[in-house]
Order: sequence, then structure tokens, then C-alpha cells
Amino acid sequence: MVLAPLSATAQQTLAPVAPEIEQALGRITKHAPVVKAMEGIKGSSVRMFEEQVRISEVPAPPFKEQARAAYYLSKVKEAGLTDAAIDTEGNVIGVRRGTGKGPKLVVAAHLDTVFPEGTDVKVREKGGRYYGPGIGDDAAGLATLLTALEHLNKSGVRTIGDIVFVGTVGEEELGDLRGMKALFRDHKDIDGFISLDGVGLGRIVNAATGSHRFMVSFKGPGGHSFSAFGLPSAIHAMGRAVAKIGDLVPPSNPKTTFTVGTVRGGTSVNAISGDATIGIDVRSNSQEELVKFVEKVMAAIHEAVADENNRWKTKAQITVDIKQVGDRPAGSISADAKIVQAARATFTAIGATTRSMEASSTDSNLPINLGVPAITLSSSGQAGGSHSLGEWYAPVNNTLGVQNILLLSLALAGVEGVSEPVLEKRTPRQ
Ligand SMILES: [Zn+2]
Repeated sequence: MVLAPLSATAQQTLAPVAPEIEQALGRITKHAPVVKAMEGIKGSSVRMFEEQVRISEVPAPPFKEQARAAYYLSKVKEAGLTDAAIDTEGNVIGVRRGTGKGPKLVVAAHLDTVFPEGTDVKVREKGGRYYGPGIGDDAAGLATLLTALEHLNKSGVRTIGDIVFVGTVGEEELGDLRGMKALFRDHKDIDGFISLDGVGLGRIVNAATGSHRFMVSFKGPGGHSFSAFGLPSAIHAMGRAVAKIGDLVPPSNPKTTFTVGTVRGGTSVNAISGDATIGIDVRSNSQEELVKFVEKVMAAIHEAVADENNRWKTKAQITVDIKQVGDRPAGSISADAKIVQAARATFTAIGATTRSMEASSTDSNLPINLGVPAITLSSSGQAGGSHSLGEWYAPVNNTLGVQNILLLSLALAGVEGVSEPVLEKRTPRQ
């Protein structure tokens, strides 16, 4: 994902965290094995960053995450989850079992980057900043999870629920959340989900910006601009469609947006065009508005085709072919949901604050849309230039995010003899 600027005014509307959640965290942070894990994490800053660099230097272009997945699998096994494996879609999955009666929590970071094959992924230091495409988004998340897992295992903390560590594929745009779609198709019993994506500790993404994308192709007879004049034109039909779409008014709340991002077509300036294609992107923070607005776009396209055909009234007509090329579901979970409250309480426990509640398009889109409690958080450290070749990361307080995800996972999954799981066990989905 690309991170929006942090808003400093996020806290004002949030209700206080429930006392039982704060008490659970209070007990967990005093539990001797947890104290040991937290200290171990604090001392692993350099080692962890070295691992982040190694992960970042294994290329992971969209749809070609295999090399990074294989490397990450080996590290997850080394950290103690010897049964970890790669699923049919390419996700790395390792389960740290609880005592057996608790919820199943998934903590994840994405393996893929936006960068194509052949991109130079060597990490280079300059003035305290480490430059490397993908080093923050999301090598930071992968290293954070790995370090949390390692110290969880070393400390011997026994959780009640299972904590499933996942490196996902297909998070970035064209991947269309294919890793998440497979994960939630194959595991109907997931009770909660946390994605670590990008850098910026204190951010909570609890709203999922959904998107639908389409490639719309107009086809017609085509012909000479002079001698065949009178035939309908694919480009003219397309132009009518773009004009109609351009006039649509989406709701501003929940934020819903659209754009015709690409146009292509025609063969020659002196030909009635026989083909034209547009690419359309529609986004919304509400699944209902997303679907509603897409219907309006479709209606505009069909009207445009009818208008063009009526203009010329010939036998040869313009036809349209609409192909959906992207489907990221939308939705949101309440700012008062237990998983959000637990995240806020955990920030407080490590001396950080909740800096923003946001809508974004991340791996959490899928579980949020399915009604599974899910949020996306970010790793600690400093970073910039996400999704660009100039992406950089500086390991400032880089272990804070590890302590955060460790404590939060323990609070949600519950610790044997210390605290009950904050996360509720759900009825498995159909
Ligand atoms: Zn990302």
C-alpha cells in the first residue's frame, strides 16, 4: 500500500479503551516470559535490520514472489515453526499452536513488491538512510513478524489461541489480494487478522478502500473516413461514454471516487475507428456505494453505445465488451471493535500513541469485507518513497513495532494462566 500522511487529530473521537483490555495487557506485560521476550527484542535491533535488508534483496515482483517466499519459509522454520509451508497460492504459512481452546489469530506481512523483474534491489546506505525498493513496504513488516516469532518462541510463552504467521502474495495492485483470497478460502476458522504493512507506528487502518477495475472495449465495423462515412465509430462511442462517466457524481461520504485512467484505440486519423478501449478505476470505503457507483458507470457505457448507434442507425453497430480486471472488496470495522481497542491499548503499553485511524487498501480488505475482525498496522522506524525506486528506511526504534505486535498478539490470543483472549472465537464461515 501507499501510505497517506499521518493525521495528528485522530484521537479526538475515540472512546476510552475497555478496562478489561487494559488490565489484560497490564498482566501480560508483567508476565516473566513476556518481560524476557520484550528485553530480547529490544536488544535485537541490528540483527533484525540486517535480516530486513536480506529479505529486501530477494526480488519479489508481482506474481513472482517464489524466491522470497522460499527464503522467508526457511527463516520462519529457523525461528521455530518447523511445520511451516507454502500454500497453493504461494503464501508462507506457519502456525504457532496455542493450548487448544482459543481463537485463531493471523498476523501477516506481504511478500510482494510493486517492482518488476530485473529491478536493482541492492540496498545502499547514504546519510543514515538505507535505499532499496521494497525495504519499507514490506520487508519491514516481514522482518518485524520474524523477530516477534523468534522471541515468542525463545521466551516459551504459552498462548491459548493459535497465532498463525503468514507472508502473503498478491497484495500490491495487480495481485488483487490473491494470497488473501486463497487464505480465507482455505481457512474458514480465522477469528482475527492483523496485517503489518509499510512504516509508521501508531497508524491503525480499520476501513478498507475497495476498488473495482474494468477494461471496456468498444468494437465497430470501422471504415474509410470519407467513403464509409455514416458508420458508427468505436472512438465516438467511447468518447460519449467518457463524457457521461465524467459527469457522474459519487458520494463524498463514504468517500467514493472514479477515473477513466487509460484510453486506447483507432488505427488512423482518416479511418472510422473499429476499436477503442478504456480502463476504469472505481473506489469506495463502502462496499454498497462501490457496487452502486459501478452500476451507474455501466449504465453510462451502455447509454453511450446506444446513443452512437442511434446517431447513425446503420445495420453495422457498435458493441461493447466489459471485463473486470480488479476486485478488492471494501468495508470497515468499528473504531470501538475489540481488535482496535486492543491495538490502541498496546500502543499505550509500549509508550506510543494512536496517531491515526485510516482507510486504505491493504490485505485487511478481504477479512474486513467478510466480517472477520481485521486491522492493518505498520512497522516502526522511519521511511519514505514507498512504491518508488528511491524508497528508503532508517532503523530508528525499529524494534518498537516488534514489541507492539508481540504484545497485541498475546492480548488477542490470550496467555495461559495470565489472561483470557480478547479475540472471540467465531463460528467458522461457510
Ligand atoms: Zn504494502
